[in-house]
Amino acid sequence: MKTSEKKQLKSPYRVGFDFDKVFVQYPPLIPDSFINWIYKKKNKTLAYRMPGTIEQKVRIFSHYPIFRHPIRNNISSLKKLYKKYPLYLISGRLGFLDKRTEQWLNKFPIKKYFKETYFNFNNEQSHIFKDRVIKSLKITHYIDDDLDLLLYLAKNNPNVFFYWLDKSTFSKRYIPFDNIKRVAKISHIKEL
Ligand SMILES: [Mg+2]
Repeated sequence: MKTSEKKQLKSPYRVGFDFDKVFVQYPPLIPDSFINWIYKKKNKTLAYRMPGTIEQKVRIFSHYPIFRHPIRNNISSLKKLYKKYPLYLISGRLGFLDKRTEQWLNKFPIKKYFKETYFNFNNEQSHIFKDRVIKSLKITHYIDDDLDLLLYLAKNNPNVFFYWLDKSTFSKRYIPFDNIKRVAKISHIKEL
């Protein structure tokens, strides 16, 4: 057994990560706020949209690995953290993006740092999918860029530490839970 595997076994922490905007950049030139806006339904309860056929084609095109750059600083953190903790990738990506996801992971081989990877390829609501996987894996720390989703998870998993990845210096959103902290990058997480 490798030293990293021994350390992982002893670790009391089980660390989960989202994929898009954590390790994979959104396409350049399109404002992030626009992409987030099209992903969600415009009503008060949290709900994610299943895009129609034409929109799926556009999104499949926009998910070519050349448009989706890796987020290098967070990938560097991954290389350090996997020597200490078992890491899990828990992504809400929908089934129509399975091939593009595989292509990206072939081009940027980060899968080896994770003990297991989970994608929402059965098209559940993203927050419900992540809540279930976090509970079943007994995740202790989870990192995501989607604050609406984190608010849902934090309420349902009060003993898990959540981290909201957000680089914007203008965000003034109020976070009503003690178990969500805002960080600009993974290396800023003091607990890990
Ligand atoms: Mg994301």
